[in-house]
Amino acid sequence: MKKLLPYAIFLTFLISVFVGQISASAEGTLVIQKLVEDATIYAEPSADSVEVDQIAKGSYVTATNVSQGWTYIQTHQLEGYVETAALVNVKSEGYLVVQKGGTALFTYPSQNAQKVGQVYENRVIFVYGTAPGGWSFVQYGQDTGYVATNSLKKPIATTKRVNAVNGAVLRLTASPNGEELGTLANKTIVQQYSTLAGWAYVETDTQKGYINASELTDLQKLGNKVYNKGVPVVKGENKRVALTFDDGPNAKVTPQILAILKKHNAKATFFMVGPNVSNNSAIVKQVYKEGHEIGNHTWNHSKLTTLSKTNVKQEVDRTSNATYAAIGQYPTVFRPPYGATNDQVRSVITMPTILWSIDTLDWKHRNADKILAYIKTSVKDGSIILMHDIHQTTADGLENVILYLQKQGYEFVTVSEILQ
Ligand code: ZN
Repeated sequence: MKKLLPYAIFLTFLISVFVGQISASAEGTLVIQKLVEDATIYAEPSADSVEVDQIAKGSYVTATNVSQGWTYIQTHQLEGYVETAALVNVKSEGYLVVQKGGTALFTYPSQNAQKVGQVYENRVIFVYGTAPGGWSFVQYGQDTGYVATNSLKKPIATTKRVNAVNGAVLRLTASPNGEELGTLANKTIVQQYSTLAGWAYVETDTQKGYINASELTDLQKLGNKVYNKGVPVVKGENKRVALTFDDGPNAKVTPQILAILKKHNAKATFFMVGPNVSNNSAIVKQVYKEGHEIGNHTWNHSKLTTLSKTNVKQEVDRTSNATYAAIGQYPTVFRPPYGATNDQVRSVITMPTILWSIDTLDWKHRNADKILAYIKTSVKDGSIILMHDIHQTTADGLENVILYLQKQGYEFVTVSEILQ
């Protein structure tokens, strides 16, 4: 334990060390892990080897050579093996550097720590967690360390589409020399968080990084038209359908539906009613994070054609605000309950109104097998399929629907994508 003493100051923060001297791993992204208990660092992957040092619970480290028993870790000052059981993976979230002149990266959460670098304004960096005193542990490219949390801001995303015939090269940093992470296919829908000097930071549900900003284009403005019997389709492209789920989210059924969609890499659209949004905000976040589209389905599920203009607006705005409170974004599409709309209703709604081309009547028959039967009879390229994520039978029937449609060559996209 004698070696622990010089690090006493870190222990008071419960977070002691930070990562440095990092070499890129094969796939180009660092694996950041966190200590869930105090641990001993050994020179070799064995408790019989030389003790290098102690490392405190809460510390962030770069982990390599993870095996069942031992993991090789590196920090700015230490390296060696710790027991894998002492570590957990931590997820990161993108934040924008808003500090004028950029923000300094420190070796530990204090102004007195050694400065290891500077991240410039408008860069998006990854935040893995916070430390007391207003610090965040972050990564930018191959650099890691602590920055002042107040130099960062949660960025606002804009939905864009990749417009590059051969795809857009995704890079770890905003530079033509930035490490290549992969390629985003032409027409991929992305969330763009910032641009600087011709580079855009973008995320999809599986990838994140920088691409050339000139390779992005705005989505076509859909306006507040009514979309009913599917959409005209472009010949020669893949067949597509839009699965839509109304009236949720439901704490029991929606997570099952999300799991099935994820398993088959299918995207869908969820038209949510306001109270369910407020009561299940973690599920709303999950829906959004997993790349699905969120639509507004009013607050009280009222028949809007029977309400005054003021009340229609209240029904819609209340749910939009609840959605914003849950995910920091407003719904992008609207579906009136019972499909009931008219000129007065449309006059107060700024989103596109999405009806459907196939009604599975899942709410009525509550029969898992009948859902596919209804779809089979009328599905075609561009179909918008109506289901409800509040019935167990709908979750039970979904996988067969997806397997059948996949076999027929269909891709599953959100309604805004199918309307592009
Ligand atoms: Zn409904």
